[in-house]
Amino acid sequence: MQSFRVVVIGGGITGTSVLYHLALKGWTDIALIERTELTAGSSWHAAGGFHAINNDTVVAALQSYTISMYPKVAEESGVDIGLKLSGGIELASTPERMRWLKAEVAWHEMMGHEGVRLMDVDEIVDLVPIVNPEGLTGGLFDPDEGNLDPNGAVYAYAGAARKRGATIITHNRVLGMKRTRAGWELETEQGPILTEHVVNAAGMWGRKVGNMVGINHPVTPILHHYLVTEDVPEIMAIDWAMPAVTDLEGWTYLQREQNGAVLGVYESNPAHWHPEGAPWDYGAKLLPPDIDRIATELEIGFARFPALASAGIKRWVHGAFAITPDGNPLVGPVRGLPGYWAAAGVMAGYSQGAAVGLAIANWIVDGDPGDDVYAMDVARFGDWAASDDYLLATTYQFYARRFLTTYPHEQLPAGRPLHTTPAYEDLKAAGAQFGATWGLEVPQFFGPLDFEHVPSLQRDNAFPHIAREVAAVRNDVGAYETGVYSRYQVSGPGAAAWLDNLLAGRIPAVGRMGLTPMLHPKGTLMGDLSVTRLAEDRFWVIGSYYLQEWHQRWFTEHLVDGVRIENLSDAWLGFAVSGPRSREVVAALTGQDMSTFRFMDARLMDDTLIDDMLIARMSLAGELGYELTVPAARQAELWRRLAGLGVTPIGDRAIDSLRIEKGFGIWSAEFTQAYTPGETGLDRFIDWDKGDFIGREAALAERARGAARQLVTLDLGATESDAVGDEPVWLGARVVGIVTSGSYGHHVGSSLALALVDTEVVESGAKVEVSVIGERQLARILTEPAYDPSGSRMRG
Ligand SMILES: Cc1cc2nc3c(=O)[nH]c(=O)nc-3n(C[C@H](O)[C@H](O)[C@H](O)COP(=O)(O)OP(=O)(O)OC[C@H]3O[C@@H](n4cnc5c(N)ncnc54)[C@H](O)[C@@H]3O)c2cc1C
Repeated sequence: MQSFRVVVIGGGITGTSVLYHLALKGWTDIALIERTELTAGSSWHAAGGFHAINNDTVVAALQSYTISMYPKVAEESGVDIGLKLSGGIELASTPERMRWLKAEVAWHEMMGHEGVRLMDVDEIVDLVPIVNPEGLTGGLFDPDEGNLDPNGAVYAYAGAARKRGATIITHNRVLGMKRTRAGWELETEQGPILTEHVVNAAGMWGRKVGNMVGINHPVTPILHHYLVTEDVPEIMAIDWAMPAVTDLEGWTYLQREQNGAVLGVYESNPAHWHPEGAPWDYGAKLLPPDIDRIATELEIGFARFPALASAGIKRWVHGAFAITPDGNPLVGPVRGLPGYWAAAGVMAGYSQGAAVGLAIANWIVDGDPGDDVYAMDVARFGDWAASDDYLLATTYQFYARRFLTTYPHEQLPAGRPLHTTPAYEDLKAAGAQFGATWGLEVPQFFGPLDFEHVPSLQRDNAFPHIAREVAAVRNDVGAYETGVYSRYQVSGPGAAAWLDNLLAGRIPAVGRMGLTPMLHPKGTLMGDLSVTRLAEDRFWVIGSYYLQEWHQRWFTEHLVDGVRIENLSDAWLGFAVSGPRSREVVAALTGQDMSTFRFMDARLMDDTLIDDMLIARMSLAGELGYELTVPAARQAELWRRLAGLGVTPIGDRAIDSLRIEKGFGIWSAEFTQAYTPGETGLDRFIDWDKGDFIGREAALAERARGAARQLVTLDLGATESDAVGDEPVWLGARVVGIVTSGSYGHHVGSSLALALVDTEVVESGAKVEVSVIGERQLARILTEPAYDPSGSRMRG
């Protein structure tokens, strides 16, 4: 039987890039298998445009990497890829959109992208004279955009990989896969093939290929249209590199194609195509144009680019590409399927192809993607995201909103509510406005029953309600639903030793809890967890609800005999009760004297008024507080009892304000895979005196050299808007940090942000500036938390 170390399924831009990146790392026993010819999926008829914008900064950086790879791969392969770095302009037609673009410029500055700037309408028309300026307020110019020949790019990657020793097998469909002791056995049209690793880069067929190994990836094909015009005299007269144009309010994009133009449409009423995956016999062919579907947007496009309206149409291109609920790819290993890798759902292959190739090759060869690729990690979704209802609703929403303004704290409606906790109806009746985390409805804040949330770039209309919730916690008592936490029970004779090695912190004694970072061997964070010891050999490990698949993949990879892990996230739920009156409330609830229950004590109480309640004393709000967790069936009852004791319900937004006042970080903001314990202050929870643990050597090395940046609180004073995250921190003209999260501090009465700032700047005590919606605001670096720096309220 033919065998390889890695087999990549799919010869589009993604598969060939994966193959090339594996070859680049020196692997040669690798093959790509393609059903028909290279490019025969979405890749051959792409418009070939690329850009580095993404709502995740790491994916954006990887998109820049994709763009930077094109000249190299063209040169190495000797294939002409028709690369044109023309730059691109995003058009704005409202003052609100201009503000949004201004914030985007600041984001580019934070990313170190040079030459990105706002443009006035005259300059836009000078550069792209076919733009009708009517109604425009301005635009944003990005020099790193452009387009290329999509076929050339695929053949360049394939050619360069082949030169480095990789094998490419065409006209060979993979029919099935099974895992054997020797590896993955692929059944193909040309016979069986054995491989240690198999990569699903099957584009529009990605869901079907996933089904072959028993998983249902949340990816589905969706239709997309562009047209190519005949020669346009006004374009022929342009003798400079005409930038590509995206008309954000007009739903269209434009790029020059020889003497004519490509005009593409992101219509507001998109259509799916074969949700289960493209038919196996679908070749490199086009679908008949569906002009009715895009007529409205096309009309707007012809009004914005009038010269095109009178030009003949040379070609309609109507095809499909793979899309996921959030528009980002599905990359990485899958729990329980060793040697299987997803490289699917790549919607913008010409912006992201090399990004996916690099991450997968690093992961396969080095055991690590090399960067914090969570935003495209296949583990960011669970099975729940792959039901047709959810998948079709969310992918429709993503496509239709592709060019719409996105707002901080905006909660989109598609596919919701999917999962709710038992207390959902009660909380809704109390005025909860929900957001979704990993499919679960979680209260954001509580308002009047007829309240309509209006998102905004500035402070939104939830502000007074959040203020009220914060005041309740600081002055009285509030309760936060802890459905946003995940809970794993770790038990068995090996449990303590296993956790001691997996986690960097101290394993608590029975009846106590502890906070601990979980580290990667390279010393970066893999979790900010709390551990509660219920018995000598029984623990609860608590993390974030939305990281369930990601954390369990890590746990499973490191699991040893004698340890059992159960995911209790949906089986046990509760509330975190915080505020000066919380002791009194918990005492009334349990009928017990809580005065001897110390900070970080934790006990499973079965003699409380509610059976089986785990009480743990701690508070993310920085107040006297107790986390109360009960079997899910009793959660609604718990809430009703708390409400009866006068507890104010609070949501995520109030928690943000409260925790930022205390300088407490959370995952995805202050703590990510890209950051270290030294930078984020989580090193204070490392038990340096215990024996070996994963990441110890790297953490010790960081401790010896000192962290290059530090997590600090910034006080922005009395502003009208708050930072939200990813804003640059400036010292004069130099970017010296990045905001990780921001909120108005309702109790301290100031706009606050947490930020990672260069250590030398922190130590100098210099005043810095933060770009908030693109406007620089002076900010003071605080040397201690803005609220209760001694921690006496929480420990009292
Ligand atoms: C009209 C249109 C315009 C677009 N414009 C742009 C653009 O300007 N910029 C941009 O970045 N993106 C654009 N895209 C999207 C882009 O085409 C895709 O993101 C990209 O092509 C995805 O590449 P891929 O390699 O992941 O998938 P594909 O190109 O679909 O490749 C998957 C390959 O897997 C093979 N395969 C599947 N199953 C099997 C099997 N069982 N055995 C063997 N082989 C198998 C298929 O034959 C296929 O060749 C556009 C798409 C369309 C439809």
